[in-house]
Amino acid sequence: MEKDCLFCQIIAGDRHADIVYEDDLMVVFKDINPHAPVHLLLVPRKHIRSVNDLSADDQGLVAAVIMRARYVAKEAGVDKSGYKLVLNVERGAGQVIFHLHMHLTGGWRA
Ligand code: 5GP
Ligand code: ZN
Repeated sequence: MEKDCLFCQIIAGDRHADIVYEDDLMVVFKDINPHAPVHLLLVPRKHIRSVNDLSADDQGLVAAVIMRARYVAKEAGVDKSGYKLVLNVERGAGQVIFHLHMHLTGGWRA
């Protein structure tokens, strides 16, 4: 837990978010400023700054996040119509929250 990290605060329950799924590895919640009809963030509980800071120990965690995306996409009703999974890595790519997260966006008309 990094006390100045917004996503660590959400994970700790110190800051509100619309959580749609959680387990011992990750929390999934709605993006506060959605860019699509469905916009979820899949966020590992472990504070990892960005994809550049992943270590070999995190392989299982990364796989779990992608595998979970399939289920939350289905729950959100966008699995068949289609969705994007995006990881913004570092500032130039648009990363503004430096706690690893994967965007799931979808819900456009097919
Ligand atoms: P990034 O640009 O770092 O990949 O994405 C960060 C995302 O977090 C943005 O889409 C932004 O709207 C979202 N976000 C920022 N602060 C909050 C917050 O306090 N709550 C929620 N639910 N989303 C947030
Ligand atoms: Zn954090």
